[in-house]
Amino acid sequence: MMRKPLIAGNWKMHMTSAEGCGLAARVAESCVGLTDREVLLAPPYTMMAEVARVLEKSSVIISSQNICWEEKGAFTGEISPVMVKDAGGSGAIVGHSERRQIFMETDNLVNQRVKGALRFDLLTILCIGETLEQREGGETNAVLEAQLRRGLEGVSSSDMINVVIAYEPVWAIGTGKTASKEQAQEVHLFLRKLIAEIYEKNIAEQTRILYGGSVKPTNVDELMAQPDIDGALVGGAALDAESFGRIINFE
Ligand code: PGA
Repeated sequence: MMRKPLIAGNWKMHMTSAEGCGLAARVAESCVGLTDREVLLAPPYTMMAEVARVLEKSSVIISSQNICWEEKGAFTGEISPVMVKDAGGSGAIVGHSERRQIFMETDNLVNQRVKGALRFDLLTILCIGETLEQREGGETNAVLEAQLRRGLEGVSSSDMINVVIAYEPVWAIGTGKTASKEQAQEVHLFLRKLIAEIYEKNIAEQTRILYGGSVKPTNVDELMAQPDIDGALVGGAALDAESFGRIINFE
């Protein structure tokens, strides 16, 4: 099965609505005529509806940067899948390392979020990644295996069609340090084998695994040339129309 590459821009906590709408319009221009890949933008909640309107005529997918598992209720500070859809979104990023590290989100919480997003048919990007300390201690595979297995607990084979995995080594996020294409490919292959073990081979073959961590115009082509890298989750470079436009148009 052919996996359609996915380039995702995570805007994190940046920009006003006006700035976000301006950037979204330029991203839409960069996507014109591209049918062999998908593009996703994850703006802050406050501008999601406005950005969605700007992107109405484009094929760009709108995603939240996090998600609650309930439809509504007493969950101060959270946003539900229904609200994201109401604002024009159809995807959710879950378990980003900033959520795990700064806001202490555990694998258990991440798993609840994953299942909540899937219950409402959102394209769900589950982020996993090891810290520098864990990599240097030789724990990379064990850490990733635990995050993947716990993150996907209770997720059925049929729901896997809406799951995207993002491998983001924590030491490469926002640091300018990218995993080498060989390092990234090795991990992606490991993750694909793991998905085959948890589910089955054809699920593993259909599941997109994105790389994230200092993806730039200068390294996107070599990363995307790896057989098990199916896309990129881009932070810093997604805030610049020209850089992100180049990344979307990887060769
Ligand atoms: P970066 O962020 O591209 O700025 O390293 C990636 C991410 O956090 O998703």
